[in-house]
Amino acid sequence: MHTQTIHLHRQAPPKPIAGQPCNGCGVCCAAETCPLARLRFRQRLGPCPALEWQADAHLYRCGLARRPRHYWPGLPAWAEGLARRLTRRWIAAGSACDSQACIAL
Ligand code: SF4
Ligand code: SF4
Repeated sequence: MHTQTIHLHRQAPPKPIAGQPCNGCGVCCAAETCPLARLRFRQRLGPCPALEWQADAHLYRCGLARRPRHYWPGLPAWAEGLARRLTRRWIAAGSACDSQACIAL
């Protein structure tokens, strides 16, 4: 069994079981990067540089989807909406949790 230590905000929600709605716990992106992040950051292991803690909502969000121009320097303003939509589709934002990680605190 592969074990890995990840660090998350103490107010982050507990990870749901796979198949339940994503709650922004951040576990998946703290552990390893998704294909899009590997393309952008050339990094396979987490935490993903685009994983952003949202203090007001007490959850994590994908920065590449929230504010693409911050992570893609040179992206023109007119393309940001399109980049946001494509990123959300690519990372399957809003779909069920697909992480099989088991958490031990
Ligand atoms: S996909 Fe799962 S592990 Fe990743 S943030 Fe959502 S709930 Fe957490
Ligand atoms: S790019 Fe977004 S979805 Fe992909 S690993 Fe980073 S934070 Fe997670």
